[in-house]
Amino acid sequence: MARLDARHPAGAPGPWFVDHRCIDCDAARHVAPGLIERNPGDGISYFVRQPTTPEEIDMAWRAVLVCPTRSVGHVTERRPPHAVFPHDLSDGVHRLGHNSRDSFGAHSYLMVRPIERGGNLMIDAPRWTREVAAPVRDMGGIDHILLSHRDDVADAERYADEFGARVWIHHDDRSAAPHATDILHGRDPIEVAPGVIAFPVPGHTRGSVLFHIDGRLLFSGDSLAWDPKRERLIAFRRACWYSWEEQTASLDRFAASGLRFDRLFCGHGWSRDASDLSPAATDFHRHLVALVERMRDQ
Ligand code: SF4
Repeated sequence: MARLDARHPAGAPGPWFVDHRCIDCDAARHVAPGLIERNPGDGISYFVRQPTTPEEIDMAWRAVLVCPTRSVGHVTERRPPHAVFPHDLSDGVHRLGHNSRDSFGAHSYLMVRPIERGGNLMIDAPRWTREVAAPVRDMGGIDHILLSHRDDVADAERYADEFGARVWIHHDDRSAAPHATDILHGRDPIEVAPGVIAFPVPGHTRGSVLFHIDGRLLFSGDSLAWDPKRERLIAFRRACWYSWEEQTASLDRFAASGLRFDRLFCGHGWSRDASDLSPAATDFHRHLVALVERMRDQ
């Protein structure tokens, strides 16, 4: 529960607030854009204005439930009046919320797919809670858990046990998920289920992997994200734990692979639906090639 006695003073007057325990993971800002922003002075989130419409109030509740430090709150209300997670992002993709502090607040997703296509996918994992497990069960459970890298494992093992899911991770990050059932090796892409391609991209961590799904959706973990201010793809130079040169080469390999995408779902950083770009996949590819060029100069 958010602590009213630690309310950030920059927040707009009203019942919604963020407390000082915020760790600047960005997650609340992704689910409540225009309501919650980063205070440049200390990096703590704050409400730039109070929500007013029903849609904005849902966004504020998502910020409450996505926050790994429970820093977002309302002065009197403790629970949302209706479920705000899993949040349907269309194309069968749902943001799960309940981000884990163990993964520094990384986002995780459920993708609902027919069993003949391998069944439902969890991409990275939230913290364990029945508030996720119950609706996920109603949506058909989990057949595969796809771990993008060692940092975003969170409570994958608990979800795998609950749903009997297979768990995929790259060998080079395997120590973070000793419970994994399926281990990826090397750098060659492999189809782990029909239409689900694991593309190893060592760089952010040694065992980072992109998951390219159904010919157009890309789950990037922490290897790739969107910069909404500059309207371009980015990689995190200051949060590259293994090798920037390797990450540059990995994304160059992916750009040259012929795999195209028009929706990007990130662990950290901003996701992006490129449907307003035209043609979307071509434009996203152009952005990726430009990113690789910039990375070579950094
Ligand atoms: S999700 Fe919580 S910890 Fe992360 S930036 Fe928002 S308020 Fe801070």
